[in-house]
Amino acid sequence: PLPTIYVVTPTYARPVQKAELVRLSQTLLHVRALHWVVVEDAPAPTALVGGLLAASGVPFTHLHAPTPPEIRRRPGDPPWLRPRGVEQRNRALQWLRDMRPPGEAAVVYFADDDNTYSLRLFEEMRSTRGVSVWPVGLVGGLRFERPLVAGGRVVGFHTAWKPERPFPLDMAGFAVALPLLRARPAARFDPAAERGYLESSLLGGLVTPAQLEPKADNCTQVLVWHTRTEKPKLRQEEQLQRQGRGSDP
Ligand code: UDP
Ligand code: MN
Repeated sequence: PLPTIYVVTPTYARPVQKAELVRLSQTLLHVRALHWVVVEDAPAPTALVGGLLAASGVPFTHLHAPTPPEIRRRPGDPPWLRPRGVEQRNRALQWLRDMRPPGEAAVVYFADDDNTYSLRLFEEMRSTRGVSVWPVGLVGGLRFERPLVAGGRVVGFHTAWKPERPFPLDMAGFAVALPLLRARPAARFDPAAERGYLESSLLGGLVTPAQLEPKADNCTQVLVWHTRTEKPKLRQEEQLQRQGRGSDP
């Protein structure tokens, strides 16, 4: 049987949340042997996300893990100030280790709700034995970042932002075999990781850079893009709300 791909998506409430999750769900619907692990950044699962998942047609598990108040982003903070989605991804790691059958052949991918994913990417990652890697578009201040490959091995990275990072990879640029995650039970995302070092905090507990498995034609194809959604302007909505005439919630 095909190894299952567990797609882990942290998500939080904001005006575009439903749109992001509908778009992602309709990508995932096209992928065989996939299980979507959606982890809400909320004190309890919400009906909005639960209903969307139930109607989506994608096999799913609905979890939640609130970001602790001391590390939560405050209104007006720049988005890069604090790591995003960390507690949620660690909650998914716990579920994968504790609740899935030991020995299950499966691959884990951390897919943020706002990126753009080619269907080809999922078939590339399905054969991951340890940690596989590939290019990510529109990230790190570049058109793309990518691992550099020679003789079938990763020998360096095309990156310009903090190139001294041990694993200068975006969250969207790697997948991990579930048996490896089980064999390294302490490996997790470090909530205290310095900006840019979150990916390295997990990967450093799993492999060395030389062990990375290049995918996507030796990392020459961009199959995922770090797109970001513009925050919608809701000035009129707020105006009407003050007059008691806001859009029906
Ligand atoms: N996220 C979250 N809680 C937050 C902020 C973000 O769960 O307070 C999720 C978000 O839905 C996304 C992931 O974490 O799936 C990464 O966040 P974002 O896309 O804002 O990060 P960026 O693209 O700026 O790195
Ligand atoms: Mn994003």
